[in-house]
Amino acid sequence: MPIRVLPAEVAAKIAAGEVVERPASVVKELVENSLDAGATEIKVEVRGGGKRLIRVADNGSGIPADEVELAFARHATSKISGVDDLTRIRTLGFRGEALASVAAVAQVTLLTRTAGEAMGTLLRLTDGHVTHREGQGAPVGTVITVQNLFATIPARLKFLRTDATERRHIDALVTRYAMAWPERRFTLLHDGRLTFQTVGSGRLHDALTKVYGLDVARQMIEVRSATDGQVGPESIAVEGYAGAPTLHRAGSDHITFFVNGRWVQDRMLTHALRQAYHTLLPAGRSPVAVIKVEIDPALVDVNVHPAKSEVKFRETDAVFRAVQRAVRRALIDQAPIPQVGGWAIPTQGGQWERRQALVGAGSEEARTAAQLAMEVQRTGPMVDAEGEPRLAFEPPRQLPPLRVLGQVAQMYIIAEGPEGLYLLDQHAAHERVLYERMSAQVTAAQVTSQTLLEPLTLELSPDLIAALEAHRDLLAGLGFQIEPFGGQTFLVRAVPAVLAQGGDLRQATINVLEEVIADRRPLEQEREERLIASVCKQAAVKAGQVLSHDEMRELVRQLEATAMPRTCPHGRPTMIHLSRIQLEREFRRR
Ligand code: ADP
Ligand code: MG
Repeated sequence: MPIRVLPAEVAAKIAAGEVVERPASVVKELVENSLDAGATEIKVEVRGGGKRLIRVADNGSGIPADEVELAFARHATSKISGVDDLTRIRTLGFRGEALASVAAVAQVTLLTRTAGEAMGTLLRLTDGHVTHREGQGAPVGTVITVQNLFATIPARLKFLRTDATERRHIDALVTRYAMAWPERRFTLLHDGRLTFQTVGSGRLHDALTKVYGLDVARQMIEVRSATDGQVGPESIAVEGYAGAPTLHRAGSDHITFFVNGRWVQDRMLTHALRQAYHTLLPAGRSPVAVIKVEIDPALVDVNVHPAKSEVKFRETDAVFRAVQRAVRRALIDQAPIPQVGGWAIPTQGGQWERRQALVGAGSEEARTAAQLAMEVQRTGPMVDAEGEPRLAFEPPRQLPPLRVLGQVAQMYIIAEGPEGLYLLDQHAAHERVLYERMSAQVTAAQVTSQTLLEPLTLELSPDLIAALEAHRDLLAGLGFQIEPFGGQTFLVRAVPAVLAQGGDLRQATINVLEEVIADRRPLEQEREERLIASVCKQAAVKAGQVLSHDEMRELVRQLEATAMPRTCPHGRPTMIHLSRIQLEREFRRR
């Protein structure tokens, strides 16, 4: 075939494909337009999973009668006027493609009126061409109805899923936007039935409750970054809600990020969030979170993809750090101990938790001036009678003072605290203690290694040998000194000192090497953390080991001194709690 320019109509349909992939894409573009138009009420009506009908009605600015046709022209927009504006984008739209794309692949009806006009305008389009126009009475705002999506493009129609699936995509989208914009009121109807509605109170937590239900919303912890308030060119504000570590899901569907009010799917952001939960969640589980990132528009490029769901940051590292830190701080400051049957992980509200909230996570990073000021407000001056600083130099207390009572089943330490009974898993608690100690040593490149009097000989399988060779430096950094001795034999000359304190050293070393193979994560730092956790797992006291009273007291004291005493490095709880109130309830004293 000779080269020729495609007819405009075909070109339009091809281009539309990039913007409109499925019914949910139409909903997205229309809702974004309503938000840009300043609407406080946005009503989304869907029939047949959006294949039959999508209608978005808003009370926004409306489109002036003399611009309605132009709104459907490709690259026609009221939001930017030149290339320079691309660095200052505060609106969700700017490409001027959405209405043109939708009109190219469906039948569209527009009814709109601005506040300055006495009468509204009705416009009908088929295949991108206006087929009808008339003046009509209408409230201020815009109603766009999209019918028979892809009816004229069989290739696309074939790829649409069942109504139920398309509906799920629409639900995900509308609920996300309702959370990103809690001050706007969203209503969603499917086939005539109201399925979702927010109040538009402006509080994210209210919207979150509508999306996830009260039960989940209760377990969400508020996140607020320290840069809060200062609006400089470099400032990155992070706020939102992150689930307590006890709240986790199988997939990452419940991780939601907004950048300047735009729902984005970004691997770097998701990764930063996961890092914030590091060692707090069980392996393979994902947190629930809704996080808003506000950043100077000049530092983020939203013009990466026609659907605008991807962004590029100028300062990726800074954004990563801001998200990771804000979430980590919130989790450490506020995470309650998990619930197990009648036993619970100690929750907020106890005396010690209040103190802990005041003192904050001193070990993670220095407290901000604002936090210190708040402490002063709530606890009085920070100097004692002699004028010495009080709170500020006390170690942060993450646990209530515990008095060890004894051991149960050679596995658990039972202790009493101000709020009732605590049962600690001796292995998990010890793992946490060892893990934090060893992580600090690794960070400072000061791991204590123990040279063995008699080297240990190991016969290794080929995959273990490969792992050993690929990660020689990593293992050396942890205190392993392992040398080839011909064939598949290797000599272990030194091990991390924690490992040398008894137990089956051979098996422990092999277990650690196996962990190296099992780990397919690309980041060296994560692999290192996981290896440290694995060494500590091997080194920690096992279940079944009888502990003396002094040993238990010492373990509890050491656990108290850790930054995150409530979970082991693998995310399991180190302790559960039975409160006095629960005890009274069980014994029917209340
Ligand atoms: P973009 O949003 O990128 O500007 P669109 O094709 O989505 O492009 O919309 C084109 C123009 O139509 C917008 O710039 C805006 O002026 C107008 N418009 C679209 N939807 C609405 C609405 N719901 N309320 C008011 N104006 C709208
Ligand atoms: Mg738009």
